[in-house]
Amino acid sequence: MRYKAPLDPECPAVIASASALLDDPMTKAMGAPTDEIIADYARKHRRECERCHDYGLANIEVE
Ligand SMILES: [Zn+2]
Repeated sequence: MRYKAPLDPECPAVIASASALLDDPMTKAMGAPTDEIIADYARKHRRECERCHDYGLANIEVE
């Protein structure tokens, strides 16, 4: 069983980073695994952002 804590989709830093990652032509050209990139980003961001940390705890999902 795995726990998945989402980031706050309203967090300005998340919005900026997600669009930067997903619109990056290099990311697309390399066929980079965006799911992994986002999961990696989410892990780091949650440690730095109190807003997303709290949101993740309130909306945690069990897989
Ligand atoms: Zn955040």
